[in-house]
Amino acid sequence: MQMISPMTNLELNDLELLTEVSHMLTSFDQNRVLKNVIDLLMRHFSVEQSTLLMNTDGSNRWRLFNLRQQFQTGMLRAPFSDDTFQTAQKVVSEGLARWIIHNKQGTIIHNTSEDNRWLELPDIPSAGGSALSVPFMHDDHVIGVFTLMHPKPGHFTDHHMRLMTIIANQVAVAMRNAQLFTDMKGQQKQLEAILHAMPDVLLVLDDKGQLLLTNDTGAALMGSQDKDAILGRPLREFTHVDTSLVMIVGVIDSPLQSGQNWSFEVRSEQHKRDYLANIAVWEHQAGAGNAGYVVVMRDITQTRDLNRFKDEMLQMASHDLRSPLALIVGYCSLMQLDVDPASKTAEYLGIVQQQTERMTGLLDDLLRVEKIRTSPSELYERVNFRDIVNIALNNMRAASDNKGQRLRAEIALDNTPPLLLNPALVREAMENLLSNAVKYTGQGGKITVKAYQENNHVHFVVEDTGIGIPAEVLPRLFNSFFRARQAGTEDIEGRGLGLSLVKTIIERHKGEVWVESTPGVGSRFGFWLPIT
Ligand code: ADP
Repeated sequence: MQMISPMTNLELNDLELLTEVSHMLTSFDQNRVLKNVIDLLMRHFSVEQSTLLMNTDGSNRWRLFNLRQQFQTGMLRAPFSDDTFQTAQKVVSEGLARWIIHNKQGTIIHNTSEDNRWLELPDIPSAGGSALSVPFMHDDHVIGVFTLMHPKPGHFTDHHMRLMTIIANQVAVAMRNAQLFTDMKGQQKQLEAILHAMPDVLLVLDDKGQLLLTNDTGAALMGSQDKDAILGRPLREFTHVDTSLVMIVGVIDSPLQSGQNWSFEVRSEQHKRDYLANIAVWEHQAGAGNAGYVVVMRDITQTRDLNRFKDEMLQMASHDLRSPLALIVGYCSLMQLDVDPASKTAEYLGIVQQQTERMTGLLDDLLRVEKIRTSPSELYERVNFRDIVNIALNNMRAASDNKGQRLRAEIALDNTPPLLLNPALVREAMENLLSNAVKYTGQGGKITVKAYQENNHVHFVVEDTGIGIPAEVLPRLFNSFFRARQAGTEDIEGRGLGLSLVKTIIERHKGEVWVESTPGVGSRFGFWLPIT
Protein backbone atom coordinates (compact mmCIF):
# COMPACT_ATOMS: atom_id res chain seq x y z
CA MET A 1 0.00 0.00 0.00
CA GLN A 2 1.33 3.44 -0.92
CA MET A 3 1.98 5.50 2.23
CA ILE A 4 1.31 9.20 2.08
CA SER A 5 2.86 11.60 4.51
CA PRO A 6 0.23 14.32 4.58
CA MET A 7 2.11 17.24 6.06
CA THR A 8 5.09 17.37 3.73
CA ASN A 9 5.51 20.08 1.14
CA LEU A 10 2.29 21.91 1.91
CA GLU A 11 2.33 25.40 0.50
CA LEU A 12 0.77 28.50 1.92
CA ASN A 13 -2.25 28.48 -0.37
CA ASP A 14 -2.74 24.79 0.43
CA LEU A 15 -2.95 25.70 4.09
CA GLU A 16 -5.43 28.40 3.20
CA LEU A 17 -7.47 25.82 1.31
CA LEU A 18 -7.37 23.44 4.28
CA THR A 19 -8.44 26.19 6.66
CA GLU A 20 -11.30 27.15 4.40
CA VAL A 21 -12.43 23.55 4.03
CA SER A 22 -12.26 23.00 7.83
CA HIS A 23 -14.34 26.09 8.30
CA MET A 24 -16.98 24.88 5.87
CA LEU A 25 -17.12 21.51 7.54
CA THR A 26 -18.43 23.00 10.77
CA SER A 27 -21.92 23.14 9.25
CA PHE A 28 -24.32 20.25 9.95
CA ASP A 29 -26.12 20.71 6.65
CA GLN A 30 -24.70 17.73 4.79
CA ASN A 31 -25.78 18.87 1.36
CA ARG A 32 -24.37 22.33 1.77
CA VAL A 33 -21.10 21.03 3.21
CA LEU A 34 -20.49 18.79 0.24
CA LYS A 35 -21.57 21.31 -2.32
CA ASN A 36 -19.39 24.10 -0.95
CA VAL A 37 -16.32 21.93 -0.40
CA ILE A 38 -16.51 20.34 -3.82
CA ASP A 39 -17.04 23.69 -5.45
CA LEU A 40 -13.98 25.02 -3.68
CA LEU A 41 -11.84 22.02 -4.60
CA MET A 42 -12.79 22.17 -8.23
CA ARG A 43 -11.77 25.79 -8.36
CA HIS A 44 -8.56 25.16 -6.45
CA PHE A 45 -7.51 22.29 -8.72
CA SER A 46 -8.70 24.11 -11.86
CA VAL A 47 -11.01 21.32 -12.96
CA GLU A 48 -14.42 21.63 -14.53
CA GLN A 49 -15.69 18.15 -14.06
CA SER A 50 -15.90 15.86 -11.09
CA THR A 51 -18.02 12.97 -9.89
CA LEU A 52 -19.11 11.87 -6.47
CA LEU A 53 -20.25 8.35 -5.69
CA MET A 54 -22.05 8.04 -2.38
CA ASN A 55 -23.21 5.18 -0.22
CA THR A 56 -24.05 6.78 3.11
CA ASP A 57 -26.88 4.49 4.21
CA GLY A 58 -24.70 1.36 4.24
CA SER A 59 -26.76 -0.38 1.51
CA ASN A 60 -25.22 -1.43 -1.77
CA ARG A 61 -27.21 1.19 -3.64
CA TRP A 62 -24.59 3.71 -4.72
CA ARG A 63 -25.60 7.11 -6.04
CA LEU A 64 -23.58 8.91 -8.66
CA PHE A 65 -23.43 12.70 -8.92
CA ASN A 66 -21.97 14.33 -11.96
CA LEU A 67 -20.66 17.72 -10.90
CA ARG A 68 -19.57 20.70 -12.95
CA GLN A 69 -17.76 23.72 -11.72
CA GLN A 70 -20.06 26.33 -10.23
CA PHE A 71 -22.88 23.84 -10.10
CA GLN A 72 -26.24 25.06 -9.08
CA THR A 73 -27.83 24.83 -5.68
CA GLY A 74 -29.63 21.54 -5.28
CA MET A 75 -27.31 19.71 -7.63
CA LEU A 76 -26.44 17.17 -4.97
CA ARG A 77 -30.03 16.20 -4.57
CA ALA A 78 -30.13 15.50 -8.27
CA PRO A 79 -30.16 12.23 -10.11
CA PHE A 80 -32.32 9.48 -8.78
CA SER A 81 -33.43 7.79 -11.96
CA ASP A 82 -32.83 4.10 -12.52
CA ASP A 83 -30.33 5.09 -15.16
CA THR A 84 -28.11 6.83 -12.66
CA PHE A 85 -28.35 3.90 -10.26
CA GLN A 86 -27.27 1.59 -13.04
CA THR A 87 -24.36 3.83 -14.03
CA ALA A 88 -23.31 4.03 -10.37
CA GLN A 89 -23.40 0.23 -10.05
CA LYS A 90 -21.31 -0.09 -13.21
CA VAL A 91 -18.64 2.31 -11.92
CA VAL A 92 -18.57 0.52 -8.57
CA SER A 93 -18.29 -2.94 -10.08
CA GLU A 94 -16.07 -2.22 -13.10
CA GLY A 95 -14.57 1.24 -12.99
CA LEU A 96 -12.01 3.14 -10.97
CA ALA A 97 -14.32 3.20 -7.93
CA ARG A 98 -13.95 -0.56 -7.69
CA TRP A 99 -10.18 -0.14 -7.33
CA ILE A 100 -10.62 2.63 -4.71
CA ILE A 101 -13.17 0.65 -2.67
CA HIS A 102 -10.96 -2.41 -2.74
CA ASN A 103 -7.67 -0.63 -1.91
CA LYS A 104 -9.20 1.95 0.44
CA GLN A 105 -6.87 4.64 -0.85
CA GLY A 106 -6.75 7.33 -3.53
CA THR A 107 -5.01 7.19 -6.87
CA ILE A 108 -4.07 9.29 -9.92
CA ILE A 109 -4.80 8.33 -13.50
CA HIS A 110 -2.36 10.26 -15.64
CA ASN A 111 -3.98 9.33 -18.93
CA THR A 112 -7.54 8.05 -18.92
CA SER A 113 -7.16 6.50 -22.41
CA GLU A 114 -4.27 4.31 -21.28
CA ASP A 115 -5.41 3.12 -17.86
CA ASN A 116 -7.76 0.14 -17.92
CA ARG A 117 -9.21 1.11 -14.50
CA TRP A 118 -10.89 4.06 -16.24
CA LEU A 119 -14.41 3.54 -17.56
CA GLU A 120 -15.66 5.95 -20.19
CA LEU A 121 -19.19 7.11 -19.33
CA PRO A 122 -21.45 8.59 -22.04
CA ASP A 123 -22.47 11.57 -19.88
CA ILE A 124 -18.96 12.39 -18.73
CA PRO A 125 -16.56 12.42 -21.71
CA SER A 126 -13.01 12.25 -20.47
CA ALA A 127 -10.91 10.32 -23.02
CA GLY A 128 -7.32 11.46 -23.18
CA GLY A 129 -7.57 13.40 -19.93
CA SER A 130 -6.40 12.72 -16.39
CA ALA A 131 -8.15 12.03 -13.07
CA LEU A 132 -7.56 12.00 -9.34
CA SER A 133 -9.79 9.92 -7.11
CA VAL A 134 -9.96 9.65 -3.29
CA PRO A 135 -12.19 7.65 -0.94
CA PHE A 136 -14.34 9.07 1.89
CA MET A 137 -13.76 6.56 4.67
CA HIS A 138 -15.85 5.78 7.72
CA ASP A 139 -15.09 2.99 10.16
CA ASP A 140 -12.71 1.36 7.66
CA HIS A 141 -15.43 1.39 5.00
CA VAL A 142 -15.53 3.45 1.84
CA ILE A 143 -18.72 5.53 1.96
CA GLY A 144 -17.92 7.75 -1.00
CA VAL A 145 -15.54 8.16 -3.91
CA PHE A 146 -14.70 11.64 -5.11
CA THR A 147 -13.06 12.00 -8.52
CA LEU A 148 -11.64 15.13 -10.13
CA MET A 149 -11.19 15.09 -13.91
CA HIS A 150 -9.09 17.24 -16.20
CA PRO A 151 -9.29 17.28 -20.01
CA LYS A 152 -5.48 17.15 -20.38
CA PRO A 153 -3.24 14.21 -19.41
CA GLY A 154 -0.78 14.52 -16.52
CA HIS A 155 -2.63 17.37 -14.80
CA PHE A 156 -2.58 15.88 -11.27
CA THR A 157 0.53 15.53 -9.10
CA ASP A 158 1.37 13.60 -5.92
CA HIS A 159 1.10 16.89 -4.13
CA HIS A 160 -2.54 17.20 -5.23
CA MET A 161 -3.04 13.68 -4.04
CA ARG A 162 -1.70 14.41 -0.51
CA LEU A 163 -3.87 17.45 -0.20
CA MET A 164 -6.97 15.62 -1.40
CA THR A 165 -6.33 12.75 1.03
CA ILE A 166 -6.29 15.12 3.99
CA ILE A 167 -9.42 16.88 2.79
CA ALA A 168 -11.27 13.63 2.04
CA ASN A 169 -10.63 12.39 5.58
CA GLN A 170 -11.99 15.60 7.04
CA VAL A 171 -15.03 15.55 4.74
CA ALA A 172 -15.82 11.95 5.70
CA VAL A 173 -15.83 12.79 9.42
CA ALA A 174 -17.93 15.88 8.86
CA MET A 175 -20.43 13.98 6.75
CA ARG A 176 -20.73 11.30 9.39
CA ASN A 177 -21.34 13.93 12.05
CA ALA A 178 -23.88 15.67 9.87
CA GLN A 179 -25.64 12.34 9.31
CA LEU A 180 -25.70 11.61 13.06
CA PHE A 181 -27.01 15.09 13.72
CA THR A 182 -29.80 14.65 11.14
CA ASP A 183 -30.68 11.24 12.62
CA MET A 184 -30.74 12.70 16.12
CA LYS A 185 -32.96 15.57 15.03
CA GLY A 186 -35.30 13.06 13.38
CA GLN A 187 -35.47 10.98 16.55
CA GLN A 188 -36.09 14.07 18.64
CA LYS A 189 -39.00 15.07 16.41
CA GLN A 190 -40.36 11.52 16.63
CA LEU A 191 -40.10 11.56 20.43
CA GLU A 192 -41.87 14.91 20.62
CA ALA A 193 -44.71 13.58 18.46
CA ILE A 194 -45.04 10.49 20.68
CA LEU A 195 -45.05 12.57 23.84
CA HIS A 196 -47.64 14.90 22.42
CA ALA A 197 -49.93 12.08 21.31
CA MET A 198 -49.63 10.22 24.61
CA PRO A 199 -52.71 10.53 26.86
CA ASP A 200 -50.84 9.15 29.90
CA VAL A 201 -48.78 11.26 32.24
CA LEU A 202 -45.08 10.72 31.55
CA LEU A 203 -42.34 11.84 33.92
CA VAL A 204 -38.67 11.08 33.35
CA LEU A 205 -36.59 11.84 36.42
CA ASP A 206 -32.91 11.73 37.22
CA ASP A 207 -31.52 9.81 40.20
CA LYS A 208 -32.29 12.76 42.51
CA GLY A 209 -35.92 12.87 41.44
CA GLN A 210 -35.50 15.99 39.29
CA LEU A 211 -37.63 16.29 36.19
CA LEU A 212 -35.74 15.61 32.94
CA LEU A 213 -38.67 15.23 30.58
CA THR A 214 -42.44 15.32 30.66
CA ASN A 215 -45.35 15.64 28.25
CA ASP A 216 -48.26 18.07 28.11
CA THR A 217 -50.45 15.81 30.29
CA GLY A 218 -47.66 15.60 32.87
CA ALA A 219 -47.16 19.36 32.91
CA ALA A 220 -50.92 19.87 33.32
CA LEU A 221 -50.93 17.52 36.33
CA MET A 222 -48.21 19.64 37.89
CA GLY A 223 -50.21 22.79 37.23
CA SER A 224 -47.99 24.12 34.46
CA GLN A 225 -48.91 25.06 30.91
CA ASP A 226 -45.33 25.05 29.75
CA LYS A 227 -43.59 21.72 30.16
CA ASP A 228 -40.14 23.18 29.57
CA ALA A 229 -40.59 25.66 32.42
CA ILE A 230 -40.72 22.91 35.06
CA LEU A 231 -37.79 20.85 33.81
CA GLY A 232 -34.95 20.51 36.30
CA ARG A 233 -37.20 20.96 39.33
CA PRO A 234 -37.52 18.16 41.91
CA LEU A 235 -40.81 16.25 41.71
CA ARG A 236 -41.32 16.63 45.46
CA GLU A 237 -41.92 20.37 44.89
CA PHE A 238 -45.19 19.45 43.19
CA THR A 239 -46.70 17.13 45.80
CA HIS A 240 -48.78 20.01 47.16
CA VAL A 241 -50.12 20.70 43.65
CA ASP A 242 -51.34 17.15 43.18
CA THR A 243 -51.75 14.44 45.82
CA SER A 244 -51.16 11.66 43.27
CA LEU A 245 -47.46 12.57 43.30
CA VAL A 246 -47.02 11.98 47.05
CA MET A 247 -46.72 8.21 46.79
CA ILE A 248 -44.56 8.42 43.68
CA VAL A 249 -42.08 10.67 45.49
CA GLY A 250 -42.22 8.21 48.42
CA VAL A 251 -41.23 5.30 46.17
CA ILE A 252 -38.45 7.26 44.47
CA ASP A 253 -37.04 8.27 47.85
CA SER A 254 -36.76 4.64 48.93
CA PRO A 255 -33.70 2.72 47.72
CA LEU A 256 -34.66 1.14 44.40
CA GLN A 257 -32.72 -1.30 42.31
CA SER A 258 -32.20 -0.95 38.62
CA GLY A 259 -34.56 -3.04 36.53
CA GLN A 260 -37.20 -2.86 39.28
CA ASN A 261 -40.75 -1.96 38.34
CA TRP A 262 -43.45 -0.62 40.60
CA SER A 263 -47.12 -0.50 39.88
CA PHE A 264 -49.76 0.96 42.17
CA GLU A 265 -52.84 3.12 42.20
CA VAL A 266 -52.80 6.76 43.25
CA ARG A 267 -55.49 9.40 43.52
CA SER A 268 -55.45 13.05 42.67
CA GLU A 269 -57.72 14.76 45.17
CA GLN A 270 -57.39 18.04 43.28
CA HIS A 271 -58.57 16.62 39.96
CA LYS A 272 -60.72 13.86 41.48
CA ARG A 273 -59.01 11.30 39.28
CA ASP A 274 -57.45 7.89 39.84
CA TYR A 275 -54.23 6.78 38.18
CA LEU A 276 -52.37 3.55 37.77
CA ALA A 277 -48.76 4.57 38.30
CA ASN A 278 -45.87 2.54 36.89
CA ILE A 279 -42.34 3.36 37.95
CA ALA A 280 -39.32 1.85 36.24
CA VAL A 281 -35.71 2.42 37.24
CA TRP A 282 -33.37 3.03 34.31
CA GLU A 283 -29.62 3.19 34.04
CA HIS A 284 -27.30 4.50 31.32
CA GLN A 285 -25.32 1.29 31.18
CA ALA A 286 -25.68 -2.07 32.89
CA GLY A 287 -24.11 -1.86 36.35
CA ALA A 288 -23.47 1.88 36.13
CA GLY A 289 -25.94 2.69 38.91
CA ASN A 290 -29.37 4.25 38.67
CA ALA A 291 -29.58 7.07 36.21
CA GLY A 292 -33.17 7.84 37.09
CA TYR A 293 -36.82 6.83 36.91
CA VAL A 294 -39.54 6.69 34.31
CA VAL A 295 -43.02 7.23 35.68
CA VAL A 296 -46.12 6.57 33.59
CA MET A 297 -49.52 7.35 35.09
CA ARG A 298 -52.61 6.04 33.33
CA ASP A 299 -55.92 7.64 34.11
CA ILE A 300 -58.14 4.82 35.37
CA THR A 301 -60.92 6.92 36.88
CA GLN A 302 -63.52 5.53 34.52
CA THR A 303 -62.37 1.96 35.02
CA ARG A 304 -62.38 2.44 38.75
CA ASP A 305 -65.91 3.85 38.73
CA LEU A 306 -67.00 0.88 36.67
CA ASN A 307 -65.22 -1.42 39.10
CA ARG A 308 -67.05 0.14 42.00
CA PHE A 309 -70.34 -0.28 40.17
CA LYS A 310 -69.43 -3.90 39.45
CA ASP A 311 -68.66 -4.50 43.12
CA GLU A 312 -72.02 -3.10 44.17
CA MET A 313 -73.81 -5.21 41.60
CA LEU A 314 -71.90 -8.28 42.71
CA GLN A 315 -72.74 -7.69 46.30
CA MET A 316 -76.39 -7.31 45.51
CA ALA A 317 -76.42 -10.31 43.21
CA SER A 318 -74.62 -12.51 45.69
CA HIS A 319 -77.10 -11.68 48.45
CA ASP A 320 -80.07 -12.31 46.20
CA LEU A 321 -78.59 -15.46 44.72
CA ARG A 322 -77.60 -17.13 47.95
CA SER A 323 -81.09 -18.01 49.12
CA PRO A 324 -82.30 -19.71 45.91
CA LEU A 325 -79.02 -21.63 45.71
CA ALA A 326 -79.43 -22.88 49.25
CA LEU A 327 -82.94 -24.04 48.28
CA ILE A 328 -81.66 -25.91 45.22
CA VAL A 329 -79.05 -27.74 47.32
CA GLY A 330 -81.68 -28.56 49.95
CA TYR A 331 -84.17 -29.92 47.43
CA CYS A 332 -81.46 -31.90 45.65
CA SER A 333 -80.69 -33.66 48.93
CA LEU A 334 -84.38 -34.37 49.49
CA MET A 335 -84.87 -35.73 45.96
CA GLN A 336 -81.83 -37.98 46.34
CA LEU A 337 -83.63 -39.72 49.21
CA ASP A 338 -86.40 -40.77 46.80
CA VAL A 339 -84.30 -42.12 43.94
CA ASP A 340 -82.24 -45.23 43.47
CA PRO A 341 -78.65 -44.21 44.37
CA ALA A 342 -77.34 -46.23 41.40
CA SER A 343 -79.65 -44.52 38.86
CA LYS A 344 -78.71 -41.86 36.33
CA THR A 345 -81.10 -39.45 38.08
CA ALA A 346 -79.12 -39.78 41.31
CA GLU A 347 -75.93 -39.10 39.34
CA TYR A 348 -77.44 -35.98 37.71
CA LEU A 349 -78.76 -34.73 41.03
CA GLY A 350 -75.27 -35.18 42.48
CA ILE A 351 -73.79 -33.01 39.71
CA VAL A 352 -76.45 -30.31 40.21
CA GLN A 353 -75.79 -30.29 43.94
CA GLN A 354 -72.01 -30.19 43.50
CA GLN A 355 -72.08 -27.31 41.00
CA THR A 356 -74.59 -25.37 43.09
CA GLU A 357 -72.33 -25.74 46.10
CA ARG A 358 -69.44 -24.46 43.97
CA MET A 359 -71.49 -21.41 43.06
CA THR A 360 -72.34 -20.87 46.71
CA GLY A 361 -68.61 -21.08 47.50
CA LEU A 362 -67.89 -18.39 44.92
CA LEU A 363 -70.56 -16.13 46.35
CA ASP A 364 -69.23 -16.71 49.87
CA ASP A 365 -65.76 -15.65 48.72
CA LEU A 366 -67.21 -12.61 47.08
CA LEU A 367 -69.11 -11.59 50.15
CA ARG A 368 -66.01 -12.16 52.19
CA VAL A 369 -63.94 -9.82 50.05
CA GLU A 370 -66.68 -7.24 50.31
CA LYS A 371 -66.90 -7.70 54.06
CA ILE A 372 -63.16 -7.25 54.52
CA ARG A 373 -63.23 -4.18 52.33
CA THR A 374 -65.79 -2.56 54.56
CA SER A 375 -64.83 -4.23 57.83
CA PRO A 376 -64.50 -2.01 60.89
CA SER A 377 -61.07 -1.59 62.44
CA GLU A 378 -62.27 -2.52 65.96
CA LEU A 379 -60.80 -5.97 65.46
CA TYR A 380 -57.32 -4.53 65.33
CA GLU A 381 -54.94 -5.43 68.14
CA ARG A 382 -51.27 -4.95 68.98
CA VAL A 383 -49.45 -8.06 67.82
CA ASN A 384 -46.00 -9.24 67.03
CA PHE A 385 -45.62 -9.32 63.24
CA ARG A 386 -43.04 -12.10 63.54
CA ASP A 387 -45.60 -14.36 65.29
CA ILE A 388 -48.06 -14.00 62.44
CA VAL A 389 -45.34 -14.80 59.89
CA ASN A 390 -44.38 -17.93 61.83
CA ILE A 391 -47.98 -19.15 62.12
CA ALA A 392 -48.58 -18.63 58.40
CA LEU A 393 -45.34 -20.46 57.60
CA ASN A 394 -46.22 -23.39 59.83
CA ASN A 395 -49.68 -23.64 58.33
CA MET A 396 -48.26 -23.86 54.82
CA ARG A 397 -45.34 -26.18 55.47
CA ALA A 398 -47.34 -29.38 54.97
CA ALA A 399 -48.54 -28.25 51.54
CA SER A 400 -45.04 -27.39 50.34
CA ASP A 401 -43.60 -30.61 51.81
CA ASN A 402 -46.23 -32.55 49.87
CA LYS A 403 -44.79 -31.16 46.65
CA GLY A 404 -41.21 -31.75 47.75
CA GLN A 405 -40.56 -27.99 47.76
CA ARG A 406 -37.92 -26.26 49.88
CA LEU A 407 -39.63 -23.62 52.01
CA ARG A 408 -37.06 -21.27 53.54
CA ALA A 409 -37.60 -18.20 55.71
CA GLU A 410 -35.36 -15.19 56.29
CA ILE A 411 -36.83 -13.20 59.13
CA ALA A 412 -35.22 -10.00 60.38
CA LEU A 413 -37.75 -8.42 62.74
CA ASP A 414 -35.76 -8.35 65.98
CA ASN A 415 -36.39 -4.72 66.90
CA THR A 416 -39.82 -4.36 65.33
CA PRO A 417 -42.43 -3.07 67.78
CA PRO A 418 -45.86 -4.78 67.97
CA LEU A 419 -48.16 -3.62 65.16
CA LEU A 420 -51.79 -2.60 65.33
CA LEU A 421 -53.62 -4.90 62.92
CA ASN A 422 -56.19 -7.63 62.45
CA PRO A 423 -53.98 -10.72 62.90
CA ALA A 424 -56.45 -13.18 61.38
CA LEU A 425 -56.74 -11.16 58.19
CA VAL A 426 -53.04 -10.42 57.82
CA ARG A 427 -52.26 -14.09 58.37
CA GLU A 428 -54.83 -14.95 55.71
CA ALA A 429 -53.12 -12.56 53.28
CA MET A 430 -49.75 -14.21 53.97
CA GLU A 431 -51.21 -17.69 53.59
CA ASN A 432 -52.81 -16.73 50.30
CA LEU A 433 -49.48 -15.59 48.87
CA LEU A 434 -47.78 -18.68 50.25
CA SER A 435 -50.41 -21.10 48.97
CA ASN A 436 -50.21 -19.49 45.50
CA ALA A 437 -46.42 -19.93 45.55
CA VAL A 438 -46.90 -23.61 46.40
CA LYS A 439 -49.68 -24.01 43.81
CA TYR A 440 -47.87 -22.34 40.92
CA THR A 441 -44.44 -23.86 41.62
CA GLY A 442 -43.63 -27.37 40.47
CA GLN A 443 -42.41 -30.35 42.46
CA GLY A 444 -39.04 -29.73 44.11
CA GLY A 445 -39.18 -25.95 43.57
CA LYS A 446 -37.89 -23.35 45.99
CA ILE A 447 -39.99 -20.92 48.01
CA THR A 448 -38.32 -18.19 50.03
CA VAL A 449 -40.15 -16.04 52.54
CA LYS A 450 -38.58 -12.78 53.64
CA ALA A 451 -39.91 -10.64 56.47
CA TYR A 452 -38.02 -7.54 57.54
CA GLN A 453 -38.35 -3.98 58.71
CA GLU A 454 -37.24 -0.99 56.68
CA ASN A 455 -37.75 2.51 58.05
CA ASN A 456 -41.39 2.70 59.09
CA HIS A 457 -42.56 -0.34 57.17
CA VAL A 458 -42.60 -4.06 57.71
CA HIS A 459 -42.20 -6.10 54.54
CA PHE A 460 -43.42 -9.58 53.74
CA VAL A 461 -42.15 -11.16 50.51
CA VAL A 462 -42.71 -14.58 48.97
CA GLU A 463 -40.36 -15.63 46.19
CA ASP A 464 -40.91 -18.75 44.17
CA THR A 465 -39.23 -20.59 41.32
CA GLY A 466 -42.56 -21.38 39.68
CA ILE A 467 -44.16 -20.82 36.29
CA GLY A 468 -44.09 -17.02 36.51
CA ILE A 469 -46.65 -14.63 35.06
CA PRO A 470 -46.60 -12.82 31.70
CA ALA A 471 -45.94 -9.07 32.08
CA GLU A 472 -49.14 -8.08 30.23
CA VAL A 473 -51.44 -9.64 32.85
CA LEU A 474 -49.58 -8.33 35.92
CA PRO A 475 -51.74 -5.17 36.25
CA ARG A 476 -54.95 -7.27 36.38
CA LEU A 477 -53.68 -9.90 38.76
CA PHE A 478 -55.26 -8.42 41.88
CA ASN A 479 -58.71 -8.04 40.29
CA SER A 480 -61.50 -10.27 41.57
CA PHE A 481 -61.94 -13.47 39.51
CA PHE A 482 -58.87 -12.82 37.42
CA ARG A 483 -56.89 -15.94 36.59
CA ALA A 484 -53.87 -15.81 34.29
CA ARG A 485 -54.72 -18.82 32.20
CA GLN A 486 -51.40 -20.25 31.13
CA ALA A 487 -50.39 -23.58 29.71
CA GLY A 488 -49.79 -25.99 32.56
CA THR A 489 -52.24 -24.37 35.00
CA GLU A 490 -55.42 -26.00 33.64
CA ASP A 491 -55.56 -28.50 36.50
CA ILE A 492 -54.80 -26.00 39.25
CA GLU A 493 -57.96 -25.23 41.16
CA GLY A 494 -58.81 -21.65 42.00
CA ARG A 495 -61.46 -18.99 41.75
CA GLY A 496 -59.26 -15.97 41.12
CA LEU A 497 -60.20 -14.29 44.38
CA GLY A 498 -57.13 -14.96 46.55
CA LEU A 499 -55.03 -12.02 45.40
CA SER A 500 -57.96 -9.64 45.40
CA LEU A 501 -58.50 -10.67 49.01
CA VAL A 502 -54.82 -10.03 49.81
CA LYS A 503 -55.01 -6.59 48.22
CA THR A 504 -58.18 -5.73 50.10
CA ILE A 505 -56.73 -6.85 53.44
CA ILE A 506 -53.45 -5.00 52.96
CA GLU A 507 -55.11 -1.82 51.76
CA ARG A 508 -57.44 -1.96 54.76
CA HIS A 509 -54.24 -1.81 56.81
CA LYS A 510 -52.94 1.16 54.79
CA GLY A 511 -50.26 -0.96 53.20
CA GLU A 512 -49.56 -1.98 49.65
CA VAL A 513 -49.15 -5.17 47.65
CA TRP A 514 -46.88 -5.64 44.67
CA VAL A 515 -45.71 -8.29 42.28
CA GLU A 516 -42.73 -8.92 40.04
CA SER A 517 -42.47 -11.94 37.82
CA THR A 518 -40.50 -13.50 35.01
CA PRO A 519 -42.30 -16.24 33.08
CA GLY A 520 -40.48 -19.52 33.38
CA VAL A 521 -38.25 -18.24 36.19
CA GLY A 522 -40.53 -17.37 39.08
CA SER A 523 -42.51 -14.71 40.88
CA ARG A 524 -42.11 -12.38 43.83
CA PHE A 525 -45.22 -11.25 45.63
CA GLY A 526 -45.03 -8.98 48.60
CA PHE A 527 -46.65 -6.33 50.70
CA TRP A 528 -45.63 -3.75 53.23
CA LEU A 529 -47.54 -2.43 56.21
CA PRO A 530 -46.88 0.81 58.02
CA ILE A 531 -45.59 0.69 61.58
CA THR A 532 -47.97 3.04 63.35
P1 ADP B 1 -56.43 -18.41 42.14
O1 ADP B 1 -57.53 -18.92 42.97
O2 ADP B 1 -56.67 -18.56 40.68
O3 ADP B 1 -55.09 -18.90 42.55
P2 ADP B 1 -55.51 -15.78 42.91
O4 ADP B 1 -56.29 -14.50 43.00
O5 ADP B 1 -54.86 -16.24 44.15
O6 ADP B 1 -56.51 -16.85 42.35
O7 ADP B 1 -54.45 -15.60 41.78
C1 ADP B 1 -54.84 -15.04 40.54
C2 ADP B 1 -53.98 -15.60 39.42
O8 ADP B 1 -52.66 -15.12 39.60
C3 ADP B 1 -53.86 -17.10 39.45
O9 ADP B 1 -54.90 -17.69 38.72
C4 ADP B 1 -52.52 -17.32 38.77
O10 ADP B 1 -52.70 -17.31 37.37
C5 ADP B 1 -51.73 -16.09 39.15
N1 ADP B 1 -50.79 -16.33 40.26
C6 ADP B 1 -50.97 -16.03 41.56
N2 ADP B 1 -49.87 -16.34 42.29
C7 ADP B 1 -48.98 -16.87 41.43
C8 ADP B 1 -47.64 -17.39 41.56
N3 ADP B 1 -47.00 -17.43 42.73
N4 ADP B 1 -47.04 -17.84 40.43
C9 ADP B 1 -47.66 -17.79 39.23
N5 ADP B 1 -48.91 -17.31 39.05
C10 ADP B 1 -49.57 -16.86 40.13
